[in-house]
Amino acid sequence: MNPPPEDKSAPQRTQAASTAGIPFVFSAPSGTGKTTVCQHLRSLLPNLRFSISHTTRPPRPGEVDGRDYFFVTREAFEKNIADGELLEWARVFDNYYGTTRATVDAATREGADLLIEIDVQGAKTLRGMEFPAVFIFLLPPSLDELASRLRRRGTDAEDKIEMRLATGREEIRALPLYDYAVVNVDPAQAARDIAAIMQAEHHRTGRFSAPAEDIRGLLTSDD
Ligand code: 5GP
Repeated sequence: MNPPPEDKSAPQRTQAASTAGIPFVFSAPSGTGKTTVCQHLRSLLPNLRFSISHTTRPPRPGEVDGRDYFFVTREAFEKNIADGELLEWARVFDNYYGTTRATVDAATREGADLLIEIDVQGAKTLRGMEFPAVFIFLLPPSLDELASRLRRRGTDAEDKIEMRLATGREEIRALPLYDYAVVNVDPAQAARDIAAIMQAEHHRTGRFSAPAEDIRGLLTSDD
């Protein structure tokens, strides 16, 4: 008998899984390949939302305001901080980056899963305030490989690369803060691993809402 054909479909939420959206905090040291993994995730999980951060860093070639980031002035960013509009913010490599409460609230209201791609400082802030998210960390296969990837990328001078590597080493030490670790050997596989984590999170008993009244009754009655 022939084996069944490989199921290449994207993982879908099953009926038994919770339907409320989950925020996922996602971090990786610079050079780990987070952007490529996110591109794979976008095609694997078309319903997954990506939080668009505010930043004071200038756009890189090809980046679009309102799609990749909201590119704002330092004054505008500082006003956002003063007005309490940011859920978290951090200074990364000389620029400000922050996530607005409005972005997260909209996803929660609409029951959408949200990927909040932020650095380790931001993740620490959210942990500190017991923000109810699932925290995922993407690791390079080794520090050697991280250094080679940064050099191959060719966007930074050697002293900048050393700075990114030193920051990366510190960030990896923060791994215990996260719920899940994914190693990026192959970005397509790393994206599949993350999709599997997301699906499993929807099946946690703590989030489970039984579809049928008779089962819900069993779960809420004392006898
Ligand atoms: P890049 O300038 O390469 O796009 O991002 C630099 C770093 O800033 C990355 O580690 C990225 O995850 C982080 N980052 C992007 N948006 C936010 C944010 O809203 N808050 C925090 N804390 N970090 C962010």
